[in-house]
Amino acid sequence: MLFKDLFMNFCILATFSFFGSMLLNYLNAHFKTSTYIKRQWIGLFFGCLGATLMQFTFPVGDNVLLDLRQISIVLSISMGGSVAGIITTIMIMITRIILSPTIGLSAILGLINAATLCIVASWIFSRSMTFYKKWLYSGIALTIIATASLCIVLGRNEIDKVLVFIVVESAATLFIFMLTRSLRKNNELFEKVSKEAQFDFLTGLHNPRAFEKKFEQLQHQETDMAHSLLFIDIDHFKKVNDVYGHPAGDAVLFQLANVIQQSIRSTDYGARKGGEEFAVWLEYCQLTEAKMIAETLRTNVEKKKFILPNGKMIHITISIGIGMYPALMWDELLEKTDQALYQAKQQGRNRSCLAQSSL
Ligand code: GH3
Ligand code: MG
Ligand code: MG
Repeated sequence: MLFKDLFMNFCILATFSFFGSMLLNYLNAHFKTSTYIKRQWIGLFFGCLGATLMQFTFPVGDNVLLDLRQISIVLSISMGGSVAGIITTIMIMITRIILSPTIGLSAILGLINAATLCIVASWIFSRSMTFYKKWLYSGIALTIIATASLCIVLGRNEIDKVLVFIVVESAATLFIFMLTRSLRKNNELFEKVSKEAQFDFLTGLHNPRAFEKKFEQLQHQETDMAHSLLFIDIDHFKKVNDVYGHPAGDAVLFQLANVIQQSIRSTDYGARKGGEEFAVWLEYCQLTEAKMIAETLRTNVEKKKFILPNGKMIHITISIGIGMYPALMWDELLEKTDQALYQAKQQGRNRSCLAQSSL
């Protein structure tokens, strides 16, 4: 009977860990700035795990029923921090009161047990140490706290039941640690690969593939709102490479990307189009504002001292083509903006030119 019940508990723990990790990924992707929302949801999710585990008690001896609810508190803290842990702990306490409104010694010890574990595990997870050590110390704390309250309830004569509980609790904690560590590693790897697929390794801006994808997505949005596009090209960049070497050229590209980022709005989309050419998608941006942003960027580059690997400082200039949507429709926007950039080069460089519609 014990084996069957434990198997059920381990299955529940594995299922909640897996979906909890998916939830964390989703929240990290959609609520980049609001950690409060993340913590709340993780806390609620693992509170549900605690409540579920309380329904799946397992017998240790004839008249003693135990459960693994404490693990949900550590899991919650490991994924969502102390705020999540507090929410999970409160949910466990409420479930305990709902399930059995009579408050006896074991109920009070259960509440103290959950609260103590929440405080101790929050403190451990706030320390700077490896994920492995955090789980190790939290697992030890969990076992000590749970065993202490069990000893008080059962007394000295039932030490065999306490030992069974210690083995079960330790095995479950080890199982969950291994599972969450593996899920965490997979998530980190996935994040790294998807970041590398989107961003240019040299400049940190979006890469040409990401820009093409963004442009394809934009075309599927039915909108009449004004947007603008900038194509940027460094003037006489070949000279920088020829005179100072390729690494110096790379250093200039990296610093120029920073100037671009600082000159555009946080909602704009900056990308390296290839070589020494860049593109910026200015979302919800009328022509007057687009011209202003292009000019600010151009003068910021003109004024900037670019530092080369040998310590020498140089100046560069850029030419910019400005395209507007919906004055130019999707099928001609790229081509016409490119032509505007070419025109800026033709007119003497270090300037911005406006794309002309063929209509
Ligand atoms: P223009 O004013 O007409 O744009 O002249 P330009 O010299 O900038 O243009 P051109 O197309 O002749 O040369 C572009 C140069 O950009 C050639 C190439 O060596 C350099 N380049 C392209 N990609 C990279 C890169 O990743 N790193 C470095 N260092 N140079 C690059
Ligand atoms: Mg150039
Ligand atoms: Mg070029």
